[in-house]
Amino acid sequence: MTTPGREPQRRIPVAVLGATGAVGQTFVRLLAHHPWFELVEVAASERSAGKSYAEATRWVGAGAIPPDVASRTVLACDPAAISADVVFSALDSSAAQDAEPAFARAGKTVLTNAKNYRMEPDVPLVIAEVNPSHLDVLEAQRRNRRWSGAIVANGNCSAIVTSLPLAPIHQTFGIEKVIVTTMQAISGAGYPGVPSLDIMGNVIPFINDEEPKLEAEVRKFLGTSDAREVQSADFQVSAHANRVPVENGHTVCISIGLRRRASASEVRQAIEEWRGADSARHLPSAPERPLVVSDAPDQPQPRRQVDTGGGMTVVVGRVRPDPIFDVKLVAMGHNVIRGAAGASVLNAELMVHCGLLGDT
Ligand code: NAP
Repeated sequence: MTTPGREPQRRIPVAVLGATGAVGQTFVRLLAHHPWFELVEVAASERSAGKSYAEATRWVGAGAIPPDVASRTVLACDPAAISADVVFSALDSSAAQDAEPAFARAGKTVLTNAKNYRMEPDVPLVIAEVNPSHLDVLEAQRRNRRWSGAIVANGNCSAIVTSLPLAPIHQTFGIEKVIVTTMQAISGAGYPGVPSLDIMGNVIPFINDEEPKLEAEVRKFLGTSDAREVQSADFQVSAHANRVPVENGHTVCISIGLRRRASASEVRQAIEEWRGADSARHLPSAPERPLVVSDAPDQPQPRRQVDTGGGMTVVVGRVRPDPIFDVKLVAMGHNVIRGAAGASVLNAELMVHCGLLGDT
C-alpha cells in the first residue's frame, strides 16, 4: 500500500498510448530511467501496431531510442491489449475521445495530454505545483461515470506555461483580467506538424482551436474544487495564439489586471519566492524551482533557456508596469516537456505521493 508522502516499494508498470508521436517520444525518453515507473508497453494507431517501436517511429529526440523500447512491439490502443494500470496518453484527440474512457472503464488511470476531457467539471486538470487539490474530484468522477479507473488531464501547452507565473500572482494579489499573446514552437503541432514552407521565416497568426482552450484552461487551473467538481476562477482571459519558427519552447507575453493593486517589483517578488505546492516538491520530475525570474532585458529566449530545470522550469522576464493593466511580463517554457509529457509524469508522481496511484 502506498501511503501519503511515500515512494512506491517497487517500480510501477506504465504504458504510453500515442507513443510514436512528438509527445509520446518524450514520454519514452523521460520514462527510460524513471525511479518510480517502468515503461512496459507502447501503443499507437493501427498503422504502427505490430511493428517494432524503432520501425514505427520517426525518432526526433536527441540521442537514440532506449534499446529496450526500440525492440518492443507497438500494441493497439485497446485496453484488452494493455496490462499496465497506469497509462500515459499522447493520443491525437480524434483517437482519445473513445480510447481514454475505454481505458478508464477498464480500471486504468489515464494521464492524458489530449484536449477532449480537460474541461469536464469532474476531470481534474492539474499542474502539480499549482492545483494538486483538484485531484479530490476523482472520487466523484468514478461515481458519476461508474469507472473503476480515472482520467487526469494535463493542460494545453501554452495554458500551462501561462498558468505557472499567474499562480503566485493570483494567490497573492488576485487576478481580475489577463491578455496573453503566444509565440508557439513548431513542435507543438506534433510530427510532421507545420509544413516547412509555411513556417520558415514566417509567423502564422492562427492555431486552430488554441485561443478558446487557453482562455478556458487558465481559469480552470486557477479555480477551486469542492470535491464534486472544479469551478473555474472568475477572471477574464483574452488570448492571441501565433505559430513561430522555433523548434521547442512556447513564449507568452502577458498583461495582467490585479484585484489588489501592486507594483511590478512586488509581483516580481511574488513570482521569485514561489515554490509551488508542498506536495509537489522533491518529486523525481519536479524541478528545483518551477519558476525562475531573469532580470536580463532580452530574456527569456527559447534557444537559450528552454532546457532550464530539465525543461520543467518556466523562465519569466521583463516584469514591468503595464500602462493599461497593472503589470506585464514574458514567460517561456518547454512545450513538449513542461507543457506535455513532463507535466503528466509529474502529475503521476504526485498521485503516487498522495496515495492515489500505486500498489493497493
Ligand atoms: P503527434 O506527433 O501527431 O502524435 C499523435 C500520436 O497519436 C501518434 O502516436 C499516433 O500514432 C497516435 N494516433 C493517431 N491516430 C490514432 C488512432 N486512430 N488510434 C491510435 N493512435 C493514434 O501529436 P503530438 O504532438 O505528440 O500530440 C499528442 C497529443 O498531445 C495531442 O492530443 C496534442 O494535442 C497533445 N499535446 C501536444 C503538445 C505538443 O507540444 N506537441 C503539447 C500539449 C498537448 P501513429 O504514429 O501510429 O499514427
